[in-house]
Amino acid sequence: MSLSLWFDGRLVPQDQLAAPLTTHAMHYGTAVFEGIRSYATPDGAAVFRLREHLERMRRGADALGIAFDANEAAAATVAVLRANHHRDAYVRPLLWYGTGSLGLDVGPLSRHLMVASVPWAPHLGEKPVRLTVSPMRRNRAAALPPLKLAGSYVNSILAKREAAGRGFDDALFVDDDGLVVECTGVNVFMVKDGAVVAVAHPDALPGITRDTLVELTGATARAVPLDELKEADEVFLAGTSAEVLPVAALDERRFGDAPVATEIRARYLSIVRSGSPAHEHWLTRVPGA
Ligand code: PMP
Repeated sequence: MSLSLWFDGRLVPQDQLAAPLTTHAMHYGTAVFEGIRSYATPDGAAVFRLREHLERMRRGADALGIAFDANEAAAATVAVLRANHHRDAYVRPLLWYGTGSLGLDVGPLSRHLMVASVPWAPHLGEKPVRLTVSPMRRNRAAALPPLKLAGSYVNSILAKREAAGRGFDDALFVDDDGLVVECTGVNVFMVKDGAVVAVAHPDALPGITRDTLVELTGATARAVPLDELKEADEVFLAGTSAEVLPVAALDERRFGDAPVATEIRARYLSIVRSGSPAHEHWLTRVPGA
């Protein structure tokens, strides 16, 4: 049976949908998306921090100049999960410029919203990750705001390809001053002498997992030079699909066991997978999914 998608206000079987080849977003990346997790909890499906994801999407929509109704997208998310009977799933809303012109003036273009859900498969796997410092630079915030604008992901994809070509799992972006930015689809944390530090950088995506972990651990958010990261006791990555993932190595530097990251990962997973009275406000329950 075909999966259902939400497209422009209604649920439609996926195999009945197609986008024209003159879709503006396909030519110029003029779209904004989100990556959201739904978890199978003992009380059914629950979407983690749906409001915060859709608020970030609204900022991307504002940057592109596309009207976006976060309440409609939230209702669509719930409807799609329920229609597909997805509990452990990845939810992908996308808002994009359609047809009407192939010029760079977006005024005449059609605008569309879809929400898809796909059964869950982990993003970087479950094993500790081997990183390499990318020879590429991250998009500068002054050139492309760090939001989930589709076109900005070409930067991530090129860096990831380059790292994979040298046998690594992911690329670490560092700026011209040697400060750590983020990886291609996750934010970076380190642990030194028991203190947890969330790497802060203006060119990094303001991650919702990062925000969650800062709140859970009381981590300090600050700029971190690459040299300091290499001296850390532990380095770990945070993102909606990667969740919390220890880093095994950064180029020639190998990290040992990651007891703090492992403990933080367990706390994170227990909250997303079942909630806790203190964190129930982070979950949107989807009865009937
Ligand atoms: N940085 C980038 C570039 C990303 O694509 C993601 C994934 N959305 C993250 C960081 C982590 O953000 P979040 O925790 O909100 O998924």
